[in-house]
Amino acid sequence: MTSQNIPKATAKRLPIYYRYLNMLSDAGKKRVSSNELADAVKVDSATIRRDFSYFGALGKRGYGYDVENLLEFFKKTLNQDKLTNVALIGVGNLGHALLNFNFHKSNNVRINAAFDINEEITGTIQSGVPIYPMEDMKEQLKIQQIEIVILTVPANVAQGVTNDLIEVGVKGILNFTPLRISVPESVLVQNVDLTNELQTLIYFLDLEKQS
Ligand code: ATP
Repeated sequence: MTSQNIPKATAKRLPIYYRYLNMLSDAGKKRVSSNELADAVKVDSATIRRDFSYFGALGKRGYGYDVENLLEFFKKTLNQDKLTNVALIGVGNLGHALLNFNFHKSNNVRINAAFDINEEITGTIQSGVPIYPMEDMKEQLKIQQIEIVILTVPANVAQGVTNDLIEVGVKGILNFTPLRISVPESVLVQNVDLTNELQTLIYFLDLEKQS
C-alpha cells in the first residue's frame, strides 16, 4: 500500500507511532506488542493493529512487531529520510524567531535561506541561515530548488511577494501574515494567524467564565 491510500486518521497517527518506535529503538528494544504500544501512545490496541495492517505489518502472535522493520516503513512514509529545504521571507521579529527556532526537533525540515529588503541584515548570517536581498530571491529559490516558503513579511507586501514565489514554482506557503493571499490551485497555503488564534482562545475563555 502506498502512503496515498492510507486512511487519513491512520496517517495522522503515524508520527506518534514513529516517535515512540524511535525511542524503543534507541533503548535497544527489538520488538513491541500492540498492547505495549497502546499503553504508551494512548491509542487502543485494536486500532493499532488495524493501522499497522494497512502497511502490511502483521504482528506475530507471541512476538509482536519488529521495531526496526516498522521504523524503516515509517521513515519512508513520513519522508524522514528526505530533507526538505525551506526558505523564509521577511526577517522581522517573527521571522527572526522562526529562524532561531529552525525546527530543531525535526530532522527532516530546515530553513536554509532567508530574504529581506533591509540592507542592515542582508548579507549577514542569522542563526546559521544566510539572509539574501530580495533581488536574489527568485534566483536562489531556483538554484536551491526550494518549493516551500514561510511568509513573515508585512501584510501590505504579502501578495506581491507571493506572486514572485508562484512565478518561480513555489508549491507551498506557510502564511504568517494576516492577509489571505491569492494563489493558483496548484499552490497550497497554510495560514497561521497568531493574533487571531490568541483572540479566539480569549473569546472562548470569556464565554466559559460567563456560563
Ligand atoms: P513582525 O511582523 O515579524 O514582528 P516587524 O514588526 O519586525 O516584524 P515588519 O514591518 O512586519 O517588521 O516586517 C517584517 C520583515 O519584513 C522586516 O524585516 C522587513 O524588513 C521585511 N520586509 C518588508 N517589506 C518587505 C518586502 N517587500 N520584501 C521582503 N521583506 C520585506
